Amino acid sequence: MKVNSQVTILELPMVFNNVERILNLTLISDPLGGLTLVDTGLPNQVELIEAAMAKDGFSIDNIRQIVLTHHDLDHVGSLNELVKRTGAKVIALKEEVPYIDGTLISTKYPSDEVLRNRPELAKLLESCVPTAVDEPVVDRTILDSSGGAVVIATPGHTPGHLCLYLPMVKTLITGDALVSENGVLKGPVESATPDMEAAKQSVRKLTRVNVTTIVCYHGGLVADDANGQLQRLAMSL
Ligand SMILES: [Zn+2]
Repeated sequence: MKVNSQVTILELPMVFNNVERILNLTLISDPLGGLTLVDTGLPNQVELIEAAMAKDGFSIDNIRQIVLTHHDLDHVGSLNELVKRTGAKVIALKEEVPYIDGTLISTKYPSDEVLRNRPELAKLLESCVPTAVDEPVVDRTILDSSGGAVVIATPGHTPGHLCLYLPMVKTLITGDALVSENGVLKGPVESATPDMEAAKQSVRKLTRVNVTTIVCYHGGLVADDANGQLQRLAMSL
């Protein structure tokens, strides 16, 4: 779904614990730099990504960069396969790099007991291949070739979580720093956020940017009074 001149949302279906949900990947178009993909879905979703892109007239082979908001399985799942396919440059916040390239194990990695009880999760984790990050970035980095996207460090959900802000189209890509439901913006999900205090602080930090459009990985587009919703939510946390 094309949202504006720079942003397209790629909706990927995901069935997990027998519940169907949609993952909202974002594609940023830059007239000179090609395509930047933000997050990569679960393992083995390259074909779904390709189909979602084709629906809006994009070719997967034109992805030049991949930005990861963080290292959770539903965000880095198809990273390795995508890099092999496209040769795209991988970008993530410095603090998140060791969790993506496999130097450190995720603090959220499930216990052996959980893995025994949830074989489908164990299988997914097994098929997620650690991948090198080409360009570690920091807060306020302006990405090359990505429509002027600005990195906003938003720790809490993970130590090196980032959001991206596109000033030309006043669009905020939140990763999991925020979620939404039917166009209504909501705070970070407590059960999946180890450092809730940092996560709340990160939401307050996001109010510094002026937004008309917000894209949440879980929940999708927030277009109705996005700025007002963000300000009110931050004050309520
Ligand atoms: Zn997620």
